Amino acid sequence: MSDDGGPDHGDRTRELGERLRAVRARISSAAAAAGRTEPGLIVVTKYFPASDVRILAGLGVTDVGENRDQEAAAKAAELEDLDLAWHFIGQLQTNKARSVVRYAHSVHSVDRLPLITALGKAVRGERERRDAAGLGAREDLHCFLQFTLDAGADPTEAPAGRGGALPIDATALAEACAATEGLRLAGVMAVAPLGADPAEAFERLLRISAEIRAVAPAASAVSAGMSGDLEEAIAAGATHLRIGSDVLGPRPAVR
Ligand SMILES: *Cc1c(COP(=O)(O)O)cnc(C)c1O
Repeated sequence: MSDDGGPDHGDRTRELGERLRAVRARISSAAAAAGRTEPGLIVVTKYFPASDVRILAGLGVTDVGENRDQEAAAKAAELEDLDLAWHFIGQLQTNKARSVVRYAHSVHSVDRLPLITALGKAVRGERERRDAAGLGAREDLHCFLQFTLDAGADPTEAPAGRGGALPIDATALAEACAATEGLRLAGVMAVAPLGADPAEAFERLLRISAEIRAVAPAASAVSAGMSGDLEEAIAAGATHLRIGSDVLGPRPAVR
């Protein structure tokens, strides 16, 4: 496939259009069945080329998700002409904060105090940089606090693996994020644990969301639901879905 409309460009457009329509139909019927408002769709484009993101934008996608800074930064630069909101959804090292705030509208994987500090500082630095360069304003970075929902985990022991704060730290993290200049606390995020009932996991996330809203009433966003569990997430009250493979197809094995 080529970025400028190579021979199979039309086929890929048709394929992505069909997959996107199918996912949108699932979202609509799940929302109707649960009596919920339809959540926003973030299409997770990690490992797929910028040309796919451009096709998706042409199909009406406005929000895309990425989990690696290097890949996301390159795609965002290549697609600067499009009006896309970039959501960073992967585990994030503090030394990448400065890069991420150059292109990201939001970070869904905020899970510890040093990262909150680093992101706030990075946004303020980015504002100075844009000011000096005569560029447009950088709005507050939307932050989703990511929690681990592994049932039966020791509530005092940091979880291994995919990231996420312990639910017990919700209030402290929310207070820190809400007090940091440059950041806007949007809400909560989680990935349902492997092998667990996603409905039950997302209910736990909604209880954490209530705790966060006690600190910051406007922080009502709930980022939950992937290709395999979007129906359960919608039933639980998700406001943002992160859907990758059901829109783009199986992710390339080599990366
Ligand atoms: C890759 C990824 C997704 C999308 O997962 P699919 O199963 O492909 O829909 C969602 N959230 C996070 C955090 C991811 O890393």
